[in-house]
Amino acid sequence: MSEKKIIVQKYGGTSVKNPERIKAVAERIKRYKDKGYSVVVVVSAMGKTTDELIVLAAELSKNPSKREMDMLLSTGEQVSIALLAIALHEIGVDAISYTGSQVRVLTDGNFSNAKIAGISTDRIHRSLAEGKVVIVAGFQGIDEDENIVTLGRGGSDTSAVALAAVLKTRDCEIYTDVDGVYTADPRVIKSPKKLKEISYDEMLELARLGAGVLHSRSVEFAKKFNIKLHVRSSFSDAEGTIVMPTEEMMEKFVISGITSKQDEAKITVRDIPDKPGIAAKLFNELGTQKIYVNMIVQSTGHDNRASISFTVKKDDLKRTIDICNTMNKDFGATAIEFKEDIAIVSAVGVGMQSSYGVAGKMFSILSEQNINIEMISTSEIGISCVIDAIYAELAAKVLHKTFIEAQ
Ligand code: ASP
Ligand code: MG
Repeated sequence: MSEKKIIVQKYGGTSVKNPERIKAVAERIKRYKDKGYSVVVVVSAMGKTTDELIVLAAELSKNPSKREMDMLLSTGEQVSIALLAIALHEIGVDAISYTGSQVRVLTDGNFSNAKIAGISTDRIHRSLAEGKVVIVAGFQGIDEDENIVTLGRGGSDTSAVALAAVLKTRDCEIYTDVDGVYTADPRVIKSPKKLKEISYDEMLELARLGAGVLHSRSVEFAKKFNIKLHVRSSFSDAEGTIVMPTEEMMEKFVISGITSKQDEAKITVRDIPDKPGIAAKLFNELGTQKIYVNMIVQSTGHDNRASISFTVKKDDLKRTIDICNTMNKDFGATAIEFKEDIAIVSAVGVGMQSSYGVAGKMFSILSEQNINIEMISTSEIGISCVIDAIYAELAAKVLHKTFIEAQ
């Protein structure tokens, strides 16, 4: 086993998009090597390779075999690991690349969205002990029968964190095209702040609410194995954002991020019988049909009738309405309405657990702008409001101004 401190570094597609970028990555790895680290690197496919491979398959089939799609998509990462090894050799750094199958990234075998069950570290430790940089292909693994499977889009982050876990290191750097996690989307808010630290839970909440910088499963893994994720840019040396346990954070902001997303639609089932079992029936059926329901609000009933509003992904809207209409033969709702032009604006922060009045403040800020709140939902560390889509940007701006810029 190698005595040196192991660091896992993951480089995303933009960080290895061309030979110049690969050279820059190799130089960076060399610097870590020179500092005395044992470096394990995970890389994604170059640039938009994965998208291009998907387009290529689509030209041959509308419904390609899942096994062959994973076989195809895994090739992108195989190209980048080899090229990075070659670039390292060129600057005098001993390095070896491995595919997922070569280091036995064992998964549950679910094609296109597999979960990692284990990784064998023998080969990695041996190579590290020989002084080599070990480069592992991200996003891929195998099933029990050695079929190649992939981990879902953006899955290389999860490969990296899983490696950090099995190699028992807390140090995992995720190099991407942004230099950290910001308090808001810079396309909406002019100068959001870069967070020095953020908790796993906040990161997961931000991802759920549309501000995904990392593959969610990688954050869940990091939380479970207590790994610190340093999200930073491969284009600069600036410190990024460290994703860490809440208890270790120096500063816990009441609100650390404002998000806004417009990929969901609202459905309202009006005046259904206010009695046990109705909601269960409807949502069980949606679940069976694999429709992901996000917010659910039920109005207080009158005359033994109540209305339920909920949101689903816009892509699932048509199927959801069809299901509601079919179920309604039993329910006798007076109407099934839907609205597509909605936005879900949210405020997220661990500090809100220990402070009062955050919800009230959020509603006041929106009402001062005459923005009507159509639905509300809360979690331990987040408050979300459904509003009309035309106010999405304005809402994000005023919330950011009051909660973050004035904080
Ligand atoms: N290359 C894969 C993708 O584009 C995996 C990754 O980038 O993490 O989704
Ligand atoms: Mg990627």
